[in-house]
Amino acid sequence: MKLFFKLMLSIFFFLAVGCQSTTPETEEEMPLDLKWMRYSVEYQALCTQVYRLAWKSVKQQAASLDEDWVVVLDVDETALDNSGYQEILYKEKKDFPYFWDDWVLLEECPPVPGVKAFIDSVRSLGDNAHIAFITNRNFPLTDATRSNLTAVGLWEDGDVLLCQKGREDTKGIRRDEVRNGTGRCEGMGPRKIIALIGDQIGDMDSYPEEKPSDEPTLQGTREAHLKEYYLNSDKWGTAYFMLPNPMYGYWTSGYQR
Ligand SMILES: [Mg+2]
Repeated sequence: MKLFFKLMLSIFFFLAVGCQSTTPETEEEMPLDLKWMRYSVEYQALCTQVYRLAWKSVKQQAASLDEDWVVVLDVDETALDNSGYQEILYKEKKDFPYFWDDWVLLEECPPVPGVKAFIDSVRSLGDNAHIAFITNRNFPLTDATRSNLTAVGLWEDGDVLLCQKGREDTKGIRRDEVRNGTGRCEGMGPRKIIALIGDQIGDMDSYPEEKPSDEPTLQGTREAHLKEYYLNSDKWGTAYFMLPNPMYGYWTSGYQR
């Protein structure tokens, strides 16, 4: 039954998007953000560059650590490429979350360029090295997500995958569980997070929300403070690694909570 379901979804996908890998000449109308993600070598080069820099940092940090440590990756547009889904939205003239769960259940996302080489390299650093995926895909999509990660060589037994159990289940809460070996990571022991890799600011350490409100103050708005907070961080390129995603994100709505 599952096989039949996947077959039908696959037919829909290929009818909607096709399987071309070069820029389609008939797609002049395609928004530039999507076209860039789907067809530019520049996008692929940037991802590869980010992952190579991340590997250099992880290797260097791991050399002086005796404890268990972990690299935390987001999933969408960080480990798995959903630009095919975005192309479906464009062609069908629909908005997220149209077809999203079905898309995930297809389990056919390709890996983001550079991520497999990075994860393979991290695994080569021994028993103290761990991989955790923290994603805001809904919890019922956990098995399909793990299966997709496995299919493209990004998953091994012992890895952690924490999908979101409702809006209150923030990435910060899940990072703390990975860090402290609590909650869903009970029994795994504490692990030092040495790198955070994502395509959204929310994939990095949490913004300290108790600070400014959304109301404008003499010091500016929450959005201005948030931008300043992250841009002033000295963790970019050492512990924080940001992948490009011009298609969607918190930035499109002024980083509203
Ligand atoms: Mg993402």
